[in-house]
Amino acid sequence: MCQAAGVPEGPEIRRAADKVQAAIVGRPIRQIFFGLPGLSKYARAMERARVEEVQTFGKAMVTHFDHGLSVYSHNQLYGKWYTVRPDQDPATNRQLRFAVRTDHRDALLYSASTIEVLRREDVRDHPFISRLGPDPLHDDVDVTTFSKRLRDPAFSGRQVGTLLLEQSFAAGIGNYLRSEILFFAGVHPCAKPRALDGNTRRKLAQKLVEITRRAYATGGVTDEPRRVKRNKKDGQRRGEYRHAVFRRVKQPCRACGATISEADFSSRRLFWCPRCQPAV
Ligand SMILES: [Zn+2]
Repeated sequence: MCQAAGVPEGPEIRRAADKVQAAIVGRPIRQIFFGLPGLSKYARAMERARVEEVQTFGKAMVTHFDHGLSVYSHNQLYGKWYTVRPDQDPATNRQLRFAVRTDHRDALLYSASTIEVLRREDVRDHPFISRLGPDPLHDDVDVTTFSKRLRDPAFSGRQVGTLLLEQSFAAGIGNYLRSEILFFAGVHPCAKPRALDGNTRRKLAQKLVEITRRAYATGGVTDEPRRVKRNKKDGQRRGEYRHAVFRRVKQPCRACGATISEADFSSRRLFWCPRCQPAV
């Protein structure tokens, strides 16, 4: 499958949710609009309610209204949120699929193909959400969560290069995070968790959480903050300093100088350093 640049992963979705939340939470609603069939019947009741929270589960977003209904949305590849001043809709050819217009800002979702209305208490049982593994951006998830999962027979015999993209293992990890997490953990993409020693397995769990949270904090920059600072100072552009290995094939590893390799894992390109991530 061909991947466009910048396909959103968990951190990008969470940042979009933060923006939507800041724009509309607690605000009186002027208008609710649904652009997909069958949903407009919910609009009137939502117009009398207020948005109380915008949650994310991996790449899915859930907008909770205080009268008990929630709107589930998944952006897939093309969905995009905008927050704008009231009625200042962006000039775009995209289709408006869901809009929450308040007295403060409007939150507009374009092009998303999956939008559903459900009761708040049913959100966890939603077929997509219920199959998701823990989300490393959630407060109640930590390194121990993933250390345990890496020892779980359901996952421990899988190649990590494939495993990390499985949303049932960890929610929200996509292609760039996968390569970056494995690099910082020093783990070869063909390795299986059960073949790693305890320290390495623990390090992999730690980097899974750390690098995902770093990407959320920095807006997608995953390389070490000190190195990023230095490379910026040297005049590198975002595309150059952003990642340690991702999309850096044939370039020297920033840690050891070896040439970065790439290969397909789960039909998507994975990048690694053959010296920092030796085969086991
Ligand atoms: Zn290296």
